Amino acid sequence: MSVNLLKMFACVLVVAACTQSEPSAENIEAGKGLPRVYTVNYPLAYFAERIAGESVEVVFPVPSGVDPATWSPDAETIADYQQADLVLLNGAGYADWIQRATLSQSRLVDTSAALADSLIPVDDSVTHSHGPGGDHSHQGTAFTTWLDMELAVGQARAVFDALVRLRPENETDFRERLTELEKDLGGLDTRLKVVAERVGDQPLLFSHPVYQYLVRGYGLNGRSVHWEPDEIPGDDQWRELFELLGAHNAGWMIWEDEPLPEAASLLESMGIESLVFRPCGNRPAEGSLLSVMLENVATLEQAFPAPASVVSY
Ligand SMILES: [Zn+2]
Repeated sequence: MSVNLLKMFACVLVVAACTQSEPSAENIEAGKGLPRVYTVNYPLAYFAERIAGESVEVVFPVPSGVDPATWSPDAETIADYQQADLVLLNGAGYADWIQRATLSQSRLVDTSAALADSLIPVDDSVTHSHGPGGDHSHQGTAFTTWLDMELAVGQARAVFDALVRLRPENETDFRERLTELEKDLGGLDTRLKVVAERVGDQPLLFSHPVYQYLVRGYGLNGRSVHWEPDEIPGDDQWRELFELLGAHNAGWMIWEDEPLPEAASLLESMGIESLVFRPCGNRPAEGSLLSVMLENVATLEQAFPAPASVVSY
């Protein structure tokens, strides 16, 4: 190779290195010494990222578009979990693959263990299917714990305790960040309480039985069907809805994601409006758990606005 060619080759390498969107070699190198924290859902990854910042490596390996509650990792990913320094579990029966994998008990932390008395048993044996995950039922314990912000705070504190055990030298820093996180969750809690007051006891429908903690935490009068936002409900599902409406005359259906326009307009023709409240179990394409929850709350506030204040002249 001529000297000129070598120079050109070197230039190409430099350009390639600078335009890479993947983490740089330095970052990978820097990450090597950090404790690795694996989580089973995105809210726990978010809490760990907020509290620990750059001082641990948080890994949430569930592919986007998949519900982490019913996901099953492949052997390679299970091996990654086995090698993690800490595995943050949601508890409440979430991610039942955990029961079948051999993970070191000493590295597992159930973030809802201290909240055991607050967990909601479900008596719902209806099995239904979700995309590639296949059939599942909602029997056992309701698991979308973080939709009650008080429980979310409890889980964030359990994440904090586990991270401090991992990096005791960072405790002061972690505590400061936990306080910030608690402030954000507390802000959501306050707004949810205010809007729930306006909703009162008017009947609400939920598209899927994953809102139990929101319903209980904020005193809502909600009942669930088993619908998917990306599917047109079948005859059985409509029948289930009609039966429900007999005793529960709802004007709103709350969805996990934007429903198909056809499903929404069919509901609208029955006097039922649709709104989206994303549980955010998986990492959103944009934003964070906080921004998604802020959007959820704003959607509720818009659907149930404060009565116009009386203006006196
Ligand atoms: Zn389901």
